Amino acid sequence: MLEWNLQYNFATIVICILMMVWYFHQKKIPLSSYVFFLKFNVSIFICTIIETTGVLLYRNEVIGEFGFNVVMAAYSFMACLISVIYACFVFEYMHVGDKNKFFLKCFLYVILSVTLIIDILTPFTKIGFYFYSNRYVVGSFGALYALLSGVSVITGIAVIIVKRKKIAASRVYILISSILFSSVMFVVQLRFTVSILCFGFAIVCLTLYNYIFNPALYIDNLTQLYNKDCMREYLEYRLDRGKVFSIILVAMDDFKYINKTYGVDTGDNLLVQVGNYLRGVEGVDVVFGYGSDQFGAVCNKKSLEEIKSLVDIVQTRFKHPWYSESSAGVMMSSSICCFECPKDADNYGNLIEVMDYAMSMAKKTNKGGISIAGNMDLSKMRSEKEIEKAVKLAIDRNELMVYYQPIFSVEKNLYNSAEALVRLNDEKLGWISPEVFIPIAEKNGLIIALGNQVLRSVCKFIRDNKLKESSVEYIEVNISPVQLQQPEYYKTVIGILEEYDVKPSQINIEITETANMVGGSDIVNENIKKIVDYGITLSLDDYGSGYSNLDYINHMPFHIIKIDKYIIWDAFENIKAGITLEYTIRMLNALQYMIVAEGVETKEQKDHLADIGCHYMQGWYYSKAVAADEFMDAIKKIPEQEKTAHN
Ligand code: C2E
Ligand code: MG
Ligand code: MG
Repeated sequence: MLEWNLQYNFATIVICILMMVWYFHQKKIPLSSYVFFLKFNVSIFICTIIETTGVLLYRNEVIGEFGFNVVMAAYSFMACLISVIYACFVFEYMHVGDKNKFFLKCFLYVILSVTLIIDILTPFTKIGFYFYSNRYVVGSFGALYALLSGVSVITGIAVIIVKRKKIAASRVYILISSILFSSVMFVVQLRFTVSILCFGFAIVCLTLYNYIFNPALYIDNLTQLYNKDCMREYLEYRLDRGKVFSIILVAMDDFKYINKTYGVDTGDNLLVQVGNYLRGVEGVDVVFGYGSDQFGAVCNKKSLEEIKSLVDIVQTRFKHPWYSESSAGVMMSSSICCFECPKDADNYGNLIEVMDYAMSMAKKTNKGGISIAGNMDLSKMRSEKEIEKAVKLAIDRNELMVYYQPIFSVEKNLYNSAEALVRLNDEKLGWISPEVFIPIAEKNGLIIALGNQVLRSVCKFIRDNKLKESSVEYIEVNISPVQLQQPEYYKTVIGILEEYDVKPSQINIEITETANMVGGSDIVNENIKKIVDYGITLSLDDYGSGYSNLDYINHMPFHIIKIDKYIIWDAFENIKAGITLEYTIRMLNALQYMIVAEGVETKEQKDHLADIGCHYMQGWYYSKAVAADEFMDAIKKIPEQEKTAHN
């Protein structure tokens, strides 16, 4: 008599019921993959019930072997259906395009129909898998049947591999391992006649729930709105479908002042209220929390007029106070930006760039107002992105070049140092000025890799050209404040110098004065201290052009001050600027700084700057920044003018 262990089936039934309760109880992203998750779960449930009922009926001799084989045929079909549903879930989840999805589904349904025919015929003809004297027997079409069942497995894996870039790597592993796990369960069930396949499916269901459909992963705790990860998934899905829709980005203005004035609890409460309000606006499909004080509302409005009338309603609401439990009415303002998809952006990466850029422009130029992204000039953003790509490519391919501009010592009458200046020549964009690409690299963090490459290249240059034996004592290297903000950045600097056997006295680091450097964070201060302790000297770059904070020169361990070229040029155009420069240089001399004049273009400038106390000259009067080989030749030649001056 059949000794089928039904414990796995009972466990499966419990898991399926639990999953369904969770499913209906939780807030779901409006994506079709969620519907397939439910279908997957329900079909496992039905399949297990069929199998359990069949075994119980057969065991209690209510049905005979033929009846049992009829039930098993229904069970087999359901098991096949489950794998097809899983594959369909994969198509949805991996954002397979509508057309491809249609073909893939048709293909799988054809296969399913063939298995259905085999299943229907098996109890009569024994061509598929059937049950005979307490074991599975493979009929003449059994191998074909197994092959057909395997097709959806293979299709699912193939789609996951092809589209793997669409989702996080950890999720790719989960999807693939789920399929493999179920396949192993299938083999175990066939081989050992243990009813374990549905239990395996149920475990897959639990895993998917835990790692993919878990509300904690996509719902913001505070506002109970969908979070940014969820927004990404949803927008990718909408964009992949290619249909027209719009997004309204609502960013609270100066929200930190609300938090400061009314307290964080009230601030949180107000954010919850704004979220709830947006959810209730007619025409809004889904609302996402986008950043801590921004909301993204997706709606199906197609024309700009429709979107405008919707955002007008939202803005009108902001003309009235918001009431939280703990405070009287609070007036808040929001900047609103509208986007039309796919017109403004047709993929998620572009869309996020456009959204961030448009909102930052809206905050600058139309704070508290309504802006339409399509009316903005997005060309600056696009060209920034092009440049960003070029920088990234140059870093990856190690194609950044470093040029050297000699610096002339008035006292020694020779080139005693040089400034290393990075150069970028992109295949498509041509030469790009560092004044353009350095700020972009600073914004996106590429400056870290860029800065390290430049320092490496300078150290290699010092070592390979035996700079010790020339008149050039050290090379000045520009370091961005972003680099100094990296914890333990000093270790990178020291590591690179040691790698190339360069002495600390052969490098001078130039730091530009910026607002966020004044007062310095602990990390910046530690980096500066450790770099100076190691023996590298510091220059304050572009002095006079930026914040010119006296605190800076009084308290930071600079050795050299470099006067900005625009200040130098202005001094020769404007009497007051001339006087300011003269007294600044006198002050810096009294403070015993060494002074470099930047942008020296004429003999007149050089003579005057030397007279008023500048120690070093840098500028086109001497040489532009040139490639390493050219530089080595250039430093051997003292300019004709200097020779005559000294004779
Ligand atoms: P900077 O550090 O102030 O460099 C001096 C800039 O003035 C250089 O521009 C140089 O070519 C230019 N210059 C020097 N003498 C003259 C002159 O007589 N006339 C004129 N018209 N210009 C002169 P460049 O190479 O375009 O670099 C611009 C800025 O980009 C640099 O200003 C620096 O802030 C930044 N930069 C360059 N290389 C690097 C780097 O490797 N790392 C970092 N973080 N920034 C860099
Ligand atoms: Mg510099
Ligand atoms: Mg400078």
